[in-house]
Amino acid sequence: MRMSEKGVGLLLGAARELGIELEPYLDQFLLLYQRLMEANQITNLTAIRDEAGVILKHFVDSLSCLKSEKLSGELKVVDVGTGAGFPGLPLKIVKRELEMSFLDATKKKIEFIEGVCRELGLSNTHCIWGRAEELGWKTGHREAYDRVLSRAVASLDTLSELCLPLVKVGGIMIVQKGPGVRNELNRARGAIRTLGGALADVITFDLPVLGEPRSLVIIEKIQTTPPGFPRRVGVPAKNPLS
Ligand code: SAH
Repeated sequence: MRMSEKGVGLLLGAARELGIELEPYLDQFLLLYQRLMEANQITNLTAIRDEAGVILKHFVDSLSCLKSEKLSGELKVVDVGTGAGFPGLPLKIVKRELEMSFLDATKKKIEFIEGVCRELGLSNTHCIWGRAEELGWKTGHREAYDRVLSRAVASLDTLSELCLPLVKVGGIMIVQKGPGVRNELNRARGAIRTLGGALADVITFDLPVLGEPRSLVIIEKIQTTPPGFPRRVGVPAKNPLS
């Protein structure tokens, strides 16, 4: 279950293509890899399980959020629908100064992240088992985050309702998407505006080694989210704002 020599080379090389020197954090990534592979044997944590897939599509893809250049400093960050900790865990490993919260609706995934954070000594982390629609109403969480991250959770219209209520006015939501983001964006324009957001930027690039197209959608919170949002659990997905 350890990463092979070839895998280590792939990880370091792909990170370097993103401009990240991963050598100082290598041991932490090796341990994360080992724990993820072990856990995947017992329970279904992630769909991607082959070595190159985990390295490129989980670790390196998560780190590509740094291309936004919006993740430096002592920021309060929440990763919404983090699953087994992506993109939040790789980002926290290389950016220790971030206060990182991990939110997921599945308990075993949150427990996995808790264990990894403990073992890696990642302090200033919070593992939250719950729904974004509920967290968005809680004091200490509503409009409390400098950055909200999300990957592979929902379409942008739905995601705006899950994420924007958590973002401070002046803060930023960073969403990882693949190609075809323009169509999603067009459909999400109304939702973004209604919830107090404004599209700031779309950064497109190819994932190192695989060359798959990726984009980072950067949405600024310019106004407070009106009362009434987010709606009940499940409604943002079933009936997205338009
Ligand atoms: N971000 C991870 C996981 C994506 S799978 C990755 O890219 O690998 C989507 C995850 O979102 C699942 O683990 C699911 O439990 C979680 N999720 C979906 N809707 C949610 C909601 N409303 N609140 C919290 N978590 C949610």
